[in-house]
Amino acid sequence: MGDLDVNHWADQIADEVIERVEKDSVLKKQVAKTGYFIYDEKTPSGVIHIGSGRGWVIHDAIAKALKDKGKKARFVLSSDDMDPLDKPSKELSKEDNEKYIGIPFRYIPSPVKGYKNFGEYYFRQCTDLFPRFGIEAELESTGEEYEKGTFNKAIKTALDNADKVQKVYAELYGEDVAAANKLPFNVKCPKCGKIATTLAIEWDRKKEEIYFECSDKVVEWAKGCGHKGWISPYNGNGKFPWKVEWAAKWPSKGVIAETAGKDHFTKGGSRTIACRISVDVFNYPPPYPSNGYYTGQGYEFFTVGGKKMSTSKGRGIGFAESVNFAPAKMLRFLLIRTRPNAVIDFDPYGTNDIILLYERYDTAERVYFGKQDLGEKENIKQKRIYELSHIGKIPTQMPPQISLVHAATLVQIFDSKDDIIENLKQTGHIKKGTTKESIDYVKDRLDFAEKWVKEFADEQYRFELQKKAPDVKLDAKQVKAIRTLAKKLREKEWDEKSLYDEFYNIARDEAGIEPKELFTAAYLVLLNRERGPKLAPFLLAAKEKAIKLFEAI
Ligand SMILES: [Zn+2]
Repeated sequence: MGDLDVNHWADQIADEVIERVEKDSVLKKQVAKTGYFIYDEKTPSGVIHIGSGRGWVIHDAIAKALKDKGKKARFVLSSDDMDPLDKPSKELSKEDNEKYIGIPFRYIPSPVKGYKNFGEYYFRQCTDLFPRFGIEAELESTGEEYEKGTFNKAIKTALDNADKVQKVYAELYGEDVAAANKLPFNVKCPKCGKIATTLAIEWDRKKEEIYFECSDKVVEWAKGCGHKGWISPYNGNGKFPWKVEWAAKWPSKGVIAETAGKDHFTKGGSRTIACRISVDVFNYPPPYPSNGYYTGQGYEFFTVGGKKMSTSKGRGIGFAESVNFAPAKMLRFLLIRTRPNAVIDFDPYGTNDIILLYERYDTAERVYFGKQDLGEKENIKQKRIYELSHIGKIPTQMPPQISLVHAATLVQIFDSKDDIIENLKQTGHIKKGTTKESIDYVKDRLDFAEKWVKEFADEQYRFELQKKAPDVKLDAKQVKAIRTLAKKLREKEWDEKSLYDEFYNIARDEAGIEPKELFTAAYLVLLNRERGPKLAPFLLAAKEKAIKLFEAI
């Protein structure tokens, strides 16, 4: 199985899942029928938090790791659109909120044109971005699955064994809790369409019908219509309460792995209930990371935008919004390289988080293409991270690597992307014969660098290359150094290393000053300030403009 230290977490999970399936006859039979079914679900009640995106990438990586081991695996994400609107939505008018409260999201009109319903609108805000995140998921609607009858068998089992379901609640939450005293099913009222206002009173297991009432007494926040009567619970006429539903989905879909945020895994929380019901009522082994009654551990929090965003918006930003802070592929890389049980707080504002992320990505890429050696173990790790992070087919040649900081420098020197590409060719960053695909890759990076400079970068990375030599005070020795530097730049083609060495020769041997004074003088002339980006690459990028400024003093 290989060394645990070296194996990527997704491969470790895949190994664990395979081993469990091999040992468990129920799961083995299930996998023979439906393959390794990796599942996740989300209620589309509004903007979906970036934290859920972590789960989608985790499930996607587990499915890919299983496929890489030759297993038939798929990742399915379901929209829990049978859940009702249970608090007013900002996107709906006051009248609509009153009209639709208590009704499943799939039967509420979309607040924006072009979507089938309210649920689809919020779900697709996220899933439309999946290609950019490299998330390969089959999408489902839980409501549609109810309609298709996928859960009919589980509905009958749960209602026939209602006492067992109630016992689970009673043991965990006490005998007085509502769920310990009612049938585990919510009918969708055929008259008013609400699902939150009905109470299932009796189950006739022969007729397979439920007697229910739609009333004001069920929840405080939604009013029922008073309708009552017998109804079949099947084919979309209602749904399980959520914790029971979680358990019911596992045998109904044949779920082998489904994790969730750690808030679901608290002691006695929803996962605890679901695991018990899965075992006690459905005789189905709960999916990884759970094992029988043992829930296992959910994944840790993921916030983007840091404290600044979390405090201004309460719970932080939405998944769809996250691409405003870093390219989706970089966020995927961040999630793939971090173990699910480690907290991630990615803060782009005035921190080095983005620079580091790009540097780490580039390092993994160099290791993957054999251009950097970090030692055997680390090489294996980095290669796998790169493979699982990469979106689409990995190119046969390493794309040109322009560090984010250098890209940011270039976008501040040149007026157009084409000029930058031309310059990168001159400086040897882009070699002859580089594919169009690779050049586009560089352009993408330049695009983000531009955004980064404008919105996130610390002051030290921002500058303005002067149009004419500023009125700065330099002493005679500094002036001599600057003039010599201009001359040297004209004389020949330099590379970064030889130019850097030349700074020291010019300062000490020709001008008789400390190199530091030369640097200060150069930045003053070029940028009208005492510090700036690394001088050698900067001068090579801005050569013509720099020479003119130097000669003008
Ligand atoms: Zn009703």
